[in-house]
Amino acid sequence: LAAEARFIANNPLSQKQHTLAASSLPGGNTRSLLHTSPFPLTMNRGQGTHLWDEDGHKYLDLAGDLSAGLLGHTPHPAVRRALLTALDSVGLNLGATSVQEERHAALLCTRFRLDRVRMSNSGTEANLHALAGARAFTGRRRVVVFTGGYHGGVLSFPSARGVQGNTVDARDFVVVPGYNDLEGARRVVERVAAEGDLAAVLVEAVQGAGGVIPGTEGFLRGLRDAARAVGAVFILDEVMTSRLAPSGLGFELGLDPDLVTLGKYLGGGLTFGAFGGRAEIMAVYDPRLAGSLAHSGTFNNNTLAMHTGYAALSEVYTPEVSVAFNAEGDALRERLVVVARGTRLSFTGRGSLIGLHFTEDGTEEITSGEQIRGKERGDLRDLFWFEMLEAGFWITRRGFIALMLGTLGEELDGFVQAVSSFLGRHRDVM
Ligand code: PLP
Repeated sequence: LAAEARFIANNPLSQKQHTLAASSLPGGNTRSLLHTSPFPLTMNRGQGTHLWDEDGHKYLDLAGDLSAGLLGHTPHPAVRRALLTALDSVGLNLGATSVQEERHAALLCTRFRLDRVRMSNSGTEANLHALAGARAFTGRRRVVVFTGGYHGGVLSFPSARGVQGNTVDARDFVVVPGYNDLEGARRVVERVAAEGDLAAVLVEAVQGAGGVIPGTEGFLRGLRDAARAVGAVFILDEVMTSRLAPSGLGFELGLDPDLVTLGKYLGGGLTFGAFGGRAEIMAVYDPRLAGSLAHSGTFNNNTLAMHTGYAALSEVYTPEVSVAFNAEGDALRERLVVVARGTRLSFTGRGSLIGLHFTEDGTEEITSGEQIRGKERGDLRDLFWFEMLEAGFWITRRGFIALMLGTLGEELDGFVQAVSSFLGRHRDVM
């Protein structure tokens, strides 16, 4: 309560802005996740890996726009050059196929081991189109997903009580309660398949919004095998996890998915999504073939994102950078784990994605949201969030860290120190 009172006192301009915003946006909000009570901080500027809010406070950005901001707030010179080339020499959307879209598509195919790819404007759209493609390919309808899975604004399956998911055609989805529970998942896959209607299994290799919980190799491979055995399309949602290894986490783990969905940083900071995979499945979208499925979208091949995305992947987030960057993330997580040992705070994640959890018993090996349901200490999580803001660290309220390229080692030292001080200061409740 004291932390919240300080928050209110320290952020009068954010509060004022929130009141103003609420007169045109419901709750002052157009990205539900960004709402925090008593009011969200309004950011007005970003530079490199830092943000400044309306009241002039500076933060180290550890939320990284939930992974989309991987490249930082200031465009890398290569991305900036690409953007200016697009603006000055090509022009805004051409309303036609273009050289740039072919170039970006070819790069995505090579890098993420896809036979064919198609582009969209968001990860949500990419998943919707991948599902439509799987349905057209199999002639079936239903999809197996997991509690805690997040595949977009209209494809969410939250585990927390009181949080309502938003799922288009919800009746077509069969939600498996336990992520990482292969036996449970296999039973559901076999049951729905026996009913003759299983089109796809859609899963993240690390549940991102669901708590940054990595899937085990055994679970993910077993799930793929179960899907394949019944002729369902295995779709790996790599919108968040493609950053975790040079060719995406699916390739790293040898999952050989049928379809992959992509997004976030792959537009170089501009709005982007893509889906692709096996040629025979993607052929359902080949307009030269009779009965093909339409995949339209005015901005699917928009000039700006085709340029910036290509520059980002070819010149900035190269395979070497991906490896080194995720090793830094692993090192940070290991340090945080050491600092928090024996407390109610624990960490999950992989590479540059880190999840933070406060639980009653300080559960160390968190493998699904179900496992800690009812044991989470939202009060401690909120206290942590308020105090990290005061210390100049921007993370999401629910405890999500997505590192940005260019975050300096000494800044991460400062964060580890801040976490350690927090735990010490509140020893009595930790
Ligand atoms: N899939 C996953 C795993 C995501 O994390 C997200 C976004 O957070 C999406 C899909 C949706 O992407 P977008 O927000 O671009 O629609």
